[in-house]
Formats: sequence, C-alpha cells, structure tokens
Amino acid sequence: MLPDKDGPNGGGGVQNGPGTEDPSVSLFREYLRLKTVHPEPDYDAAVRFLERIAEELALPMKKVEVCPGRVVAIITWVGSRPELKSVVLNSHTDVVPVYEEHWKHDPFAAVKDEHGNIYGRGSQDMKCVTIQYIEAIRRLKAAGKRFSRTIHLTFVPDEEVGGHKGMETFVKHPEFQKLNIGFALDEGLANPTNAYTVFYGERNPWWITVRCPGSPGHGSRFVENTAAEKLVSVFRMLNTNECFTLGDVTTVNMTMVKGGVAYNVIPAEMDVSFDLRIPPTVNLMRACSSTPPKQYQDFVKEHNRTPLNLLPFSALQKHMDQNFTSTEESDPWWHAFSSTCKAMNVTLQKEIFPAATDSRFIREEGLPAIGFSPMNLTPILLHDHNEYLNEQVFLRGIQVYERLVPALASVPPLSGEE
Ligand SMILES: [Zn+2]
Repeated sequence: MLPDKDGPNGGGGVQNGPGTEDPSVSLFREYLRLKTVHPEPDYDAAVRFLERIAEELALPMKKVEVCPGRVVAIITWVGSRPELKSVVLNSHTDVVPVYEEHWKHDPFAAVKDEHGNIYGRGSQDMKCVTIQYIEAIRRLKAAGKRFSRTIHLTFVPDEEVGGHKGMETFVKHPEFQKLNIGFALDEGLANPTNAYTVFYGERNPWWITVRCPGSPGHGSRFVENTAAEKLVSVFRMLNTNECFTLGDVTTVNMTMVKGGVAYNVIPAEMDVSFDLRIPPTVNLMRACSSTPPKQYQDFVKEHNRTPLNLLPFSALQKHMDQNFTSTEESDPWWHAFSSTCKAMNVTLQKEIFPAATDSRFIREEGLPAIGFSPMNLTPILLHDHNEYLNEQVFLRGIQVYERLVPALASVPPLSGEE
C-alpha cells in the first residue's frame, strides 16, 4: 500500500470516494477514529493499530508496559551503524475530551469537508504527526534508503494528563536508556502563517500559594494592614514585577483565593494562589532573590508595611528546569534540522512552548528535543472545538519528514561516538 509518490492527488474538491484519496490521508483518518480519548482512552486499539503498522513496515515493535495498562510502543529501524546515538520520533497516542455539542461533525468520525479539512480530536494534537512519521518512514524504506543512525518511533500514553504514567515513567525505565538517544523530535503547534513553529524549550509551571496574615478585628472598625489588603498587594506585585517578566512571555494568573469566616469579621489570614509560567531563559535563582521594583519598595517604605516578598509562601509545584535545546548553527542536530528546512524553503519560527509537553522529560534527561508539528497556514486548535487539519497541509508535512529524517539520521558521528 504505497502512497502516490507525487503526493496529493489534484487540488481541492471532495475526495471521500474510495480510490481517490491519498492512502496516507485514509490512514490518518482511520487513526483519528480510534477513541483514545480521556478519561478512558482505548489504548488497546492504538497498540493494535501500531502492531499492524509495524508489520506493514516490516520493522520490529517492542511494547514496554511502564504502568499497569500503560504501554509505550517502540518501532525501530536499525541504522547501518547501530552503535551511534539514535534519533527518536516521539508522539503521544491519547487525546483530550470533547464537548460534542460544540462540534460541526462527530469528533471521532474524521469527516473531510469540501475544502479537504479533516475534522477530528487529535487532528492537530498529535495524531497527524504520528501518521506523518509513519508515512515518511514507509516512503523512505520503499525507496530503499538506509541511514547510519537508528531511528526509533516511540508512541506514549497519557501525555494529556501530565505524562506521569507515560513519558515521565518511561525516561526512568531501562528500555529508555537502551534507546541510546542522540536527538528527539516531539510535538509542536500549528502556525496560522506560512511559517512552521519549532519549540526548543518549555516554560516552567509554578503553582504557588502566598499566605497573607493580617490584623484581625470587627468588620465595623477601621483596621489597617488587613489580610485582604495584603492579598491585593501580592496580586499587584506579581503582575507588575519586572523580575518575573524578563523573558516577556511569563504569565501570572491568580487562580484561587481562600479566607474569611463571616461578613463582620476581618480574617486573621487569607491565602492566594497563582499559576505562573516562566520561560527557561529566565534566571530563576535571580528571579527568586531579586529586589522588587522601585515603585513597590517606595510603597512599602511609605506605608510602613511588611515587604510582601517576606510573606510565607508554599509551592505545590515549582519546576526549576532550565534545560533548553540548542538552536545554534554550530549544534550538529540543529544544523541538520534547520539546513534541511532552509533547503526546502521552509521558514522556521523559534519559540518557547507556552505549556508543557513530554519533551520536558526528555530534556530533563539532558537530551536535545525539538517540538515540531509541521502545520502551517493552520489556526491553532489543539484542545479546541472543531479541531481540524487540511489534507494538503498534512501531506506536505510528510514530505518535510521525508527530508528531515534522513538528515537527522545521517548526522556524522559526534565527538565521543567514534
Ligand atoms: Zn499533544
């Protein structure tokens, strides 16, 4: 079942009829119909699907059960120099839930409209990428190619629920070490312009709660320095504090407020919680200990208040991961990636990922990982209603991987590899 070498058949028009659709598109639509949706993803269906793919590709597939019912599948194409570090093409198999009533089409029917837009949960995040990897490998193998480095396709569960029973556990598993990874590709985001976005790092989520003790009293009196007053000041300070906006993509959101017992009692304490997302480029040690901005210091002095940075706070999670992947032209992996894109006239937009993906676990192991989903001219609809991807954009993405994979799997031996 080889796809048409010239890529997509014709432009536009409905291509739902049998025989008129590119087999890669049909496979993509088939995969979209598997209900690997939380809270009860049908992972068995995904594993069965991947077993069939491995058979078609004539490549071995290993199944690693990292947690009960949570299998990481690994399809391996051994290189001509298997001692060299490998290239990993990672994708997650799960998708986020849907609000079906907001969808134009059944989110698990993979309907293709007259413009070639394929609707389905996972069409952008990230079943498209899974099939693009597979189809690129299928075409390269059919063309008789072989590369020096081994290529592993890894398919992991549970990314959408934090990766604890997926990639986070897998990176600590002996089977992960055995992959001998040199470089990994993982998911990115769509880009509405002609460019493709690449992600070389992720922001650190900090969930912190600041305790604001204050002067208690009866609600009928004038009381100074109350807990509520401090709480408002904390919010103001975090939202304007320059030390947290160095990378200019830090976000601060107040998400919870707790405190108070009655209308007429001024509480002795209130708690306020924040969700902060800090780019890895921000020096966290400096951000934590830096002096607050001058206007704030003036306020503290003028009003004779406890500096808010001395208030007790607790952190539910405070990731201090400062790893990001090199995008210097001198880096052999990045050079292979970026020069291939350049040769294809593909414009890249380098960014820090706004949320968290499985790439962070790979980077925390000290391995380089780039987040890349080749979807240009496409609105960002991950986790949104009516998630779709146009079939032409999808097919173009396969061609991009057909060039990227050989480039990465042919990176000459690095120092220490020979
Ligand atoms: Zn995803």
